[in-house]
Amino acid sequence: MCRKILIVEDEPRLASILSDYIAQAGMSPYVIDNGLEVVEWVKREAPGLILLDLMLPGKDGMEICKEVRHFSELPIIMVTARIEEIDRLLGLEIGADDYICKPFSPREVIARVKAVLRRTAGHEVIANAELVLDESRYLATLHGQKLDLTAVEYQLLSALAKSPGRIYSRDQLMEKIYPDQRIVEDRTIDSHIKKLRKKMASISEGGNLIHSVYGVGYKFEQLDG
Ligand code: CA
Repeated sequence: MCRKILIVEDEPRLASILSDYIAQAGMSPYVIDNGLEVVEWVKREAPGLILLDLMLPGKDGMEICKEVRHFSELPIIMVTARIEEIDRLLGLEIGADDYICKPFSPREVIARVKAVLRRTAGHEVIANAELVLDESRYLATLHGQKLDLTAVEYQLLSALAKSPGRIYSRDQLMEKIYPDQRIVEDRTIDSHIKKLRKKMASISEGGNLIHSVYGVGYKFEQLDG
């Protein structure tokens, strides 16, 4: 899988060096050169990691990091020349995963990116442009807004979203959410799905990504990207 790496850097030369190294390492780099566009872009594109410069025009890296943490646990590496800020960056308030001090060697950056991706792999975020799932916290966001789901609803959504386009029967979904083979009436799945869809529709009218397949079961809409 080709990982999307967002590089937020206002110095064009640095951005282009980082971008080249990220691409050479087999990942897909995207560059944003100001602070204002980052949060919306992240909500829309759900990158696998952000390399985030601290000093940026528009909005600084700390503020961006805090805002991203409101809806996502995706790995963030702060890039800074201000050594004295490091404790704060990694603390609860800001919530970055790691930091790199300027000046840095691009090789070091790649090593850090890989290390952070390995370390945070358990938090794998399944993403398409609209829906982001944080498996470590049972958190789902649709268009950047948190969905307030029960555990069962989350598991259903997660099972369906992991294989877009695949049709699941009610029995198969039942096994996903009640692996202990508890006997539950068939229509239980229908009522959970109904509630789940209602919650998704309340965030976005087009948010109904779960389709029923007549006589068979349900599937998650196949999306581009
Ligand atoms: Ca800068």
